[in-house]
Amino acid sequence: MAVFFDYDDTLINTANASKAAYESVAELLKAEGQYASEVDTIIKAYRELLWSTPNDSYKVETPKKIRVKLWESSIQKCVHSKSCSVNHIRELAEKLYDMWYTTRLGAMAWIEKETVPTLLSLRKKYKLVLITNGSSVIQWEKIKKMEAQKYFDHVLVSGDEPYDKPHKSIFIKACTLCGVLPETCVMVGDNLATDILGAHNANLLASIQYTGSSKNKPSPGNLSNDSASPRFTISSITELFSVLEEIY
Ligand SMILES: [Mg+2]
Repeated sequence: MAVFFDYDDTLINTANASKAAYESVAELLKAEGQYASEVDTIIKAYRELLWSTPNDSYKVETPKKIRVKLWESSIQKCVHSKSCSVNHIRELAEKLYDMWYTTRLGAMAWIEKETVPTLLSLRKKYKLVLITNGSSVIQWEKIKKMEAQKYFDHVLVSGDEPYDKPHKSIFIKACTLCGVLPETCVMVGDNLATDILGAHNANLLASIQYTGSSKNKPSPGNLSNDSASPRFTISSITELFSVLEEIY
């Protein structure tokens, strides 16, 4: 028996931290008078570019290098004034990245005050594995910031593996590491297209969708048609105790 957990917006408040980060970036852009009217378009352009950046890019270049370039492209795309020099845009892009990075990491927290106590308590009974999608550097940075590793028997980041969730391979690896069969394991996550579909792909015993994140809009993954229905839905992590009792 093992319980697998997603990280972003299941255990930590990634969406909230990102929101705070974009708000501080918007303030910074507003303070730069000439971009004041384009603040929303620049940020929207950046977010689109960020979403379309494949995880593999981070194996070649650092997140900072890639993301400064994305901010540069976003500003260039939205600002048509000839008065903005390339150097100025580069400098601004670096400032925006630093502001975004510092605010986001600084605002990162466990979603619920019960999150850590629940993990500690569950670990007495079950093996726990963290299974998170994303580039190795970026995910490990968030894991280290929260010292999340100490609450799990194993941590798997898709950037270190051949495939992201919902591919079954990362789930099967988690089972192998724990020395258990997939049909005895449960996956807990917020995303239907990665966590819940992945649990189905790997033939796990059950999937549990966590809906307690402050994230109002579904993530792009949740908008996909390729999703599955969870067997259980919980809005607080503490509901896991009764749900797991029912499952096992
Ligand atoms: Mg998630």
